[in-house]
Amino acid sequence: MEKEELLYEGKAKKLFKTDQVGVLWVEYLDQATALNGAKKDVVQGKGELNNQITSLIFEALKAEEIPSHFIEKISKTEQLVKSVEIIPLEVVVRNRAAGSFSKRLDIPEGKALPFPIVEFYYKEDRLDDPFINDDHVLALEIATEEEITVIKELARKVNQALIKLFQKAAITLIDFKIEVGRTPAGEILLADEISPDTCRLWDTATDSHLDKDIYRRDLGDLVPVYQEVLARLSK
Ligand code: 5GP
Repeated sequence: MEKEELLYEGKAKKLFKTDQVGVLWVEYLDQATALNGAKKDVVQGKGELNNQITSLIFEALKAEEIPSHFIEKISKTEQLVKSVEIIPLEVVVRNRAAGSFSKRLDIPEGKALPFPIVEFYYKEDRLDDPFINDDHVLALEIATEEEITVIKELARKVNQALIKLFQKAAITLIDFKIEVGRTPAGEILLADEISPDTCRLWDTATDSHLDKDIYRRDLGDLVPVYQEVLARLSK
């Protein structure tokens, strides 16, 4: 497999074409960003950690028959994925109140929710990824009604699989964000990454943060925390 031209450079990843139709080459970068890119730093070792954690998680999801874009990890910082048309949604699942949910509704962080809440945000940096509902998704022609149903079911299934996976590592899954894409055949696949960048993970014993809130909230060095998550998931 040959790496070809750069297709896209995001905040934490580069995406390249390959010589194989339908296969893309992803490189994870040593870059941390928050506040829609307003806070940005080079963090040595982060690319490697997120590639390893994401690859491990996508392998575990494959074993649960969750369809994703993931093909294989090919180096410490690189993986191959299926090319999909990314649907411009950030799909958030919440098991406990935290972050923007706690702020918007004045509910203390950590409060258990009666059932997992699925939310949509319109993935548009220019607008700061606004919170939207199913009608907005339909009216803006972001996805069809059938696709919304499939996306929500997929998000809930990912949640159950991740809860189980993190439980074994003594980690509580507070919330997370996924992205999904469409294949040329119209199948919806889980895409992007699942890592401590995209999840809120609390140590089950102490409730300490094991995720990007360390960086967002200036709580310390992110690398040893991500190393801890990888070590616990690898046991
Ligand atoms: P909140 O809406 O509370 O800020 O985020 C909810 C969950 O989704 C958190 O686990 C957070 O990490 C994730 N999330 C939401 N938006 C983004 C985003 O733009 N980038 C990343 N990496 N994660 C996000």
